[in-house]
Amino acid sequence: MATKLPKTDVVIVGVGWGGGIIASELTKGGLSVVGLERGKERKTEDYYMVHDELRYALRYEMFQDLSRETITFRGNEKIKALPMRSYGSFLLGDGLGGSGVHWNGQTFRFLPYDFEIKSKTIERYGKSKIPDGMTIQDWGITYDQLEPYFNKFEKMTGISGDENPLGGKRSEKYPTPPMKTTPGMKMFSDSCKGLNYHPYHMPSANLSEQYTNPDGIARAACQYCGYCERFGCEYGAKADPVVTVIPVAKNTGKFELRTHSNVRRILHKGGKATGVLYIDTTTGEEYEQPADIVVMTSYVFNNTRLLLMSNIGKPYDPKTGTGVIGRNYAYQVLKGAGVGFFEDKEFNIFAGAGSLGMCIDDFNGDNFDHKDLKFIHGANISYSQTGARPIQNNTVPPGTPTWGKDYKAATVKYANRHINVGAQGSCMPFRHHFLDLDPTYKDEFGDPLMRITFDFEDQDRELVKFMGAKCGDILKQMGADKVVANTELAPYEITTYQSTHNTGGVVMGSSPDTSAVNNYLQMWDTENLFVIGASAFAHNSGYNPTGTMGALSYRAAEGILKYHKNPGSLV
Ligand SMILES: Cc1cc2nc3c(=O)[nH]c(=O)nc-3n(C[C@H](O)[C@H](O)[C@H](O)COP(=O)(O)OP(=O)(O)OC[C@H]3O[C@@H](n4cnc5c(N)ncnc54)[C@H](O)[C@@H]3O)c2cc1C
Ligand code: SF4
Repeated sequence: MATKLPKTDVVIVGVGWGGGIIASELTKGGLSVVGLERGKERKTEDYYMVHDELRYALRYEMFQDLSRETITFRGNEKIKALPMRSYGSFLLGDGLGGSGVHWNGQTFRFLPYDFEIKSKTIERYGKSKIPDGMTIQDWGITYDQLEPYFNKFEKMTGISGDENPLGGKRSEKYPTPPMKTTPGMKMFSDSCKGLNYHPYHMPSANLSEQYTNPDGIARAACQYCGYCERFGCEYGAKADPVVTVIPVAKNTGKFELRTHSNVRRILHKGGKATGVLYIDTTTGEEYEQPADIVVMTSYVFNNTRLLLMSNIGKPYDPKTGTGVIGRNYAYQVLKGAGVGFFEDKEFNIFAGAGSLGMCIDDFNGDNFDHKDLKFIHGANISYSQTGARPIQNNTVPPGTPTWGKDYKAATVKYANRHINVGAQGSCMPFRHHFLDLDPTYKDEFGDPLMRITFDFEDQDRELVKFMGAKCGDILKQMGADKVVANTELAPYEITTYQSTHNTGGVVMGSSPDTSAVNNYLQMWDTENLFVIGASAFAHNSGYNPTGTMGALSYRAAEGILKYHKNPGSLV
């Protein structure tokens, strides 16, 4: 029998970027907030002497323990899904700050096209451009409506950057100047200009200079240590929830954080959430935390899984295309990329930062004509210098022996004589790509795992063919002696890392028939339940997700404060 605790204004499930932003905004607004995080407490001091590639990058020190909870995966409905028993395709956050602690900090705004993708595609190319089964939809919000919230997220995190010449209109400049320009970045930029493209610095949460944000939080400048992605920042330079929003919430005296608290159900009665049921994983004791408002910020998979396990919202049924929970799961298409080898140039790519690079959006969104192309949307193409670490940096030209003396000589020779140009491809939702509860496999508490049904489509294969060729052209323009461009896409598999940019499952929109939440991320049919994260994205864009997810979190926080004063639907 669960112990019932005193009621709070708001309970938050998971304390990463989503949970941290909600906690800081609501406590500043005077509400009492309990944050339940299943992982442990974290602080910057944990990362002194963090430069251990084996421990953090290869043995996944900071990630969810897959022996306790994982996901299952299958390529289509005809086959049985199997559990992801070791990390591959994506990595799952766990602990205070979630994945926001070990992210890279590449902080883009989705394009105006993204938010109105269906209308804009039909308007320019006609209905027939959208293939059968592709379930794109407008998001129920426009870029212009979301712009002030992008700005808020960028000021809180102190994003360093310059204007994207092909992006949506900005109301203000980035709060800090762009990061440094390395020789490799300059070559990329010059070559793109030579091809009449529009290069700009990758917007970065790594901080080009010391910065104090509007909440009074001061952070140091990035040291370009190169141990950023998969690592916590020992300088506190990288914006993460633990060094930005969580201290703000704590300082109000209105935030109670409980770590090692794993939420198993959202409790509800008569169409309203009443609180959550969770386990203290250090003692095994079960607690009920009642609340006036419940906010789910437990990432794409657990946002969807907890709703399904709690019988909230109508589960998505791929046979009829009805129902919303689990709908429009999408991923990312990263294989259209190229690598260039240089015989007489070295780039010192061991130095870098999580978000140090140059990029172009000439082939992203609808910034180019798709009339004669067999895909919609596109990709951000970039050269990023994130810090090539000694164990994983082994890129050699094709034809190099795979072991022995010659292999070793080639890895040494090319360690700093190659450049990767990558395309972060968008991913469209399809009727038969979805999330549901696995009928076989369970977590440590006996609850069903989240099951993913997903594969790449012709849309993705065409996109890779196109982007791979563009990356190859840029590398040739950069003067690489040998260029290897990948233009082929094999079926999706879950064993090699691609990106932790999963989206969908609890998507937003303007109709309860095709979306689970409105544009404040408030559930249509449970008005005091807000579901925050990239689970709300109705498709995935050609960028990293967190800038957009952060903007939506700020908007949701504003909505929750309004709702607390004046309950009811916010739209
Ligand atoms: C290696 C890596 C690099 C990345 N780089 C970038 C980048 O450069 N740019 C970018 O835009 N994005 C990047 N991302 C993605 C980015 O980190 C995420 O988009 C972002 O952190 C998501 O925030 P969130 O709050 O939605 O989820 P999370 O950060 O996953 O936080 C969710 C929290 O909820 C907790 N939780 C889950 N279930 C429960 C439960 N049942 N009970 C209690 N707590 C629970 C988890 O432990 C976790 O702490 C990267 C991700 C990874 C892994
Ligand atoms: S690269 Fe910069 S932001 Fe990233 S961990 Fe190192 S010092 Fe911190």
